[in-house]
Amino acid sequence: MTAPILLWFKRDLRVHDHPALAHAAALGPVLPLYIVEPGYWALPDVSGRHWAFLSETLAALQTELAALGQPLVLRQGDAVEVLERMRRRFGITRMVSHEETGNGWTFARDRRVAGWARAQGVRWEELPQCGVVRRLSSRDGWQGRRDRFMAAAQGTAPAALAPLEIAPGAVPVVPGPGLAPDPCPHRQRGGRTEALALMESFLTERAAGYRRAMSSPLGGERACSRLSPHLALGALSVREVVQATAGRRGALRGASGGWGGALASFDKRLAWRDHFIQKLEDEPALERRCLHPAWEGVRPRDPDAARLAAWAAGETGLPFVDACMRYLRATGWLNFRMRAMLVSVATHHLWLDWRPVGQHLARLFTDYEPGIHWSQCQMQAGTTGINTMRVYNPVKQGLDQDPDGRFIRRWVPELAPVPDAFVHQPWIWPGAGRLAGQRYPAPVVDPEGGGGAARGAWARLRAGPFFAYPAAAVAARHASRKRPPARSGARRRDDGAQLRLDL
Ligand SMILES: Cc1cc2nc3c(=O)[nH]c(=O)nc-3n(C[C@H](O)[C@H](O)[C@H](O)COP(=O)(O)OP(=O)(O)OC[C@H]3O[C@@H](n4cnc5c(N)ncnc54)[C@H](O)[C@@H]3O)c2cc1C
Repeated sequence: MTAPILLWFKRDLRVHDHPALAHAAALGPVLPLYIVEPGYWALPDVSGRHWAFLSETLAALQTELAALGQPLVLRQGDAVEVLERMRRRFGITRMVSHEETGNGWTFARDRRVAGWARAQGVRWEELPQCGVVRRLSSRDGWQGRRDRFMAAAQGTAPAALAPLEIAPGAVPVVPGPGLAPDPCPHRQRGGRTEALALMESFLTERAAGYRRAMSSPLGGERACSRLSPHLALGALSVREVVQATAGRRGALRGASGGWGGALASFDKRLAWRDHFIQKLEDEPALERRCLHPAWEGVRPRDPDAARLAAWAAGETGLPFVDACMRYLRATGWLNFRMRAMLVSVATHHLWLDWRPVGQHLARLFTDYEPGIHWSQCQMQAGTTGINTMRVYNPVKQGLDQDPDGRFIRRWVPELAPVPDAFVHQPWIWPGAGRLAGQRYPAPVVDPEGGGGAARGAWARLRAGPFFAYPAAAVAARHASRKRPPARSGARRRDDGAQLRLDL
């Protein structure tokens, strides 16, 4: 019997436009394997909602692969041990996967797997599945490479896969002992069918209001694509979405109703996706270290536990912040601007370190994508050294994005007795004393002046002698090249389009 090619599925859970699967299928019979790793599921940045979404996506993939002739093989355990068992059983000498840009744990695991493959004489090929480039020497020309990848023809699924003599195994109920219960009653459902339906409804119905509605958690829920968790697990390839968007833009050329601008804006965000993931690919340590070293230690590494707990529970006494956090806990999703505001309030007003803040949010986001997430957390916390500091005023954000307080009232029912005029700032309501019985707290921090410490620290660091040089290095390594890199990173505004859009 010819030894099969082991196709290790990771965050590429589809068969269409799958370069690694197509490559493996061209080489010989394929053993499609997914490993549920208990070590991963004990990490502080993963959660039950991630697992619930993943298990639905895995079940869908198992069905898709079964229709091709060989169901997905699911095994639980340490990756090296599972791979070694497969090697012994099938005489595996070749393995293919996509190039994963994951968190520090998966990075270290891949190094162990690479060591095992070398020691056992297994040839492991990793192929890109998006615009992120491995071992990139410079950001110059990166955008062009990414655009060429997106313009290339999509790969099709293999017509059939030869069946192997192996029990597929079922998706386990729990992935490991370390996972805490995580109720998320309004979570999105996983699986390619759901992903395709969302893409279709976005491109044909929902996107018209995208630009106007995306800033508000009320409008964004429907007007944003909601594709993020599916992209994070690869149920859709980014190229499929980019090309479907281009096709729709072509078909709608000249149409009124905001479609052109909406789809252009969406397309830009798909490009940001690769841009941000590229940062983590180029610098895995950005998940744990401030990009600009001068920020290290400015905020206490041991955060004020009471403040962190109040923010995480949606009990800061700042109604719009609490409503956003509670909505996120219940749905697993939040629009971009409100994610940024939650980080801004935590790191500027509450003066908490971005790492525990980011870990809490990572667990709550069903779409947790380490490359976007940690880059954005640092950007919003102001620790990159190359972005201007954004201090969101949470009261102003609430008044702008939820002017009649509908969103606040839904998610913070304790404020029911408060008249409309005061729902954004119950502390100035003359009847505020009555809220004591509702158990809604007084604000833990002054929403207007709370960002002062952050602004002061930023001004002091920028003026210091050790700021400009490392900032220029960060800009050279990570900044987009729409404009030439600035001489002094201190003045550079990386990702300028985003800054203008989101501030
Ligand atoms: C602090 C913080 C943490 C974030 N963490 C994540 C995360 O873990 N996973 C994640 O997918 N997104 C993250 N984002 C980016 C953004 O908020 C989400 O991608 C978006 O809200 C997902 O909803 P959507 O799919 O409807 O987005 P749409 O607006 O429909 O955008 C389409 C896709 O473009 C990409 N995208 C959109 N906005 C951005 C952005 N600003 N940067 C990079 N890519 C973008 C995503 O893949 C998204 O699915 C984070 C933003 C902030 C401020």
